Amino acid sequence: SKRRGKNCVEFFNIDMQREASQLMQLEEDLRHALSSRQLALAFQPIVNIEQDRVVAFEALVRWQHPEQGLLMPGHFIPAAEQSGLIIPLGFWVLRSVCQGLVARIEAQRDLVPVALNISPQQFRDKHFMTEVAAILRETGVPPDLLEFEITESTLMDNLDATIAILNALKGLGIRISIDDFGTGYSSLALLKQLPVDTLKIDRCFVKDIGENEEDRQIIQAVIAMSAQLDLDVIAEGVETVAQRDLLHAFGCRQVQGYFYGRPVIGAIPDTGRLLPHTA
Ligand code: C2E
Ligand code: CA
Ligand code: CA
Ligand code: CA
Repeated sequence: SKRRGKNCVEFFNIDMQREASQLMQLEEDLRHALSSRQLALAFQPIVNIEQDRVVAFEALVRWQHPEQGLLMPGHFIPAAEQSGLIIPLGFWVLRSVCQGLVARIEAQRDLVPVALNISPQQFRDKHFMTEVAAILRETGVPPDLLEFEITESTLMDNLDATIAILNALKGLGIRISIDDFGTGYSSLALLKQLPVDTLKIDRCFVKDIGENEEDRQIIQAVIAMSAQLDLDVIAEGVETVAQRDLLHAFGCRQVQGYFYGRPVIGAIPDTGRLLPHTA
């Protein structure tokens, strides 16, 4: 709303004030949401397309706002990051996922790892490792059922610090994915230094894979690179059978997207359900 036509310039300051007070209200509401069970998790399957099997879920945060209804992360994660609330929010997500996994173990339900998103601030917070270790201890979750998704740009920010934190996480037994891969220009040489398990190819490369030769080449290069580094690859945002078939032809074995399942709010789901396209 700051980029409006010439005629709107005189309202610029009023708009900025309104935006600032809306942001403050959002922060206050979010602080309240954290302490009053308004946050929820949605789980989306990650599928092995050769075996037609759910191999993991990604946990995605949602806010059930009492007046505004269901809010998506794009609506409140930026405010959470700006206010520092992303740190308690992130730990709430981690603790909830751990408790959900332990509940499945106790109920003897099937188990696949659950991936969750770690924000840049959380990753750089000096209490991050102690807090993660405390939540693992407190919940008793098997750490190999957890995968932390960290964006490429967050990881590339300060490589020495990144490597130290990743090694500490690996030491606890947690798996690491590079999220939104392809948007941050990492080289093969850089990647080789990072103790990561998985690359998640950003949805923007998958979207036009049928029409855009450049996107196809990027995806093929990422798949070739991961094979060399012995990393898993997950293509994000797969919505159509055509996208799935192209990715399969390129040698990609794991995908996530609306084609296989949308994020669903609730407890961690069973893996056993029939996939839509096989039903
Ligand atoms: P992300 O980590 O890249 O998560 C994938 C996003 O793509 C999710 O949006 C998911 O619903 C959406 N998506 C999945 N498949 C498809 C598809 O086939 N087509 C399209 N168009 N979209 C698809 P969502 O849930 O709105 O989350 C957006 C972003 O918010 C996430 O992007 C992540 O960066 C952030 N986020 C979500 N949950 C958390 C969280 O618990 N903590 C932190 N720090 N960030 C989170
Ligand atoms: Ca993610
Ligand atoms: Ca992503
Ligand atoms: Ca993304």
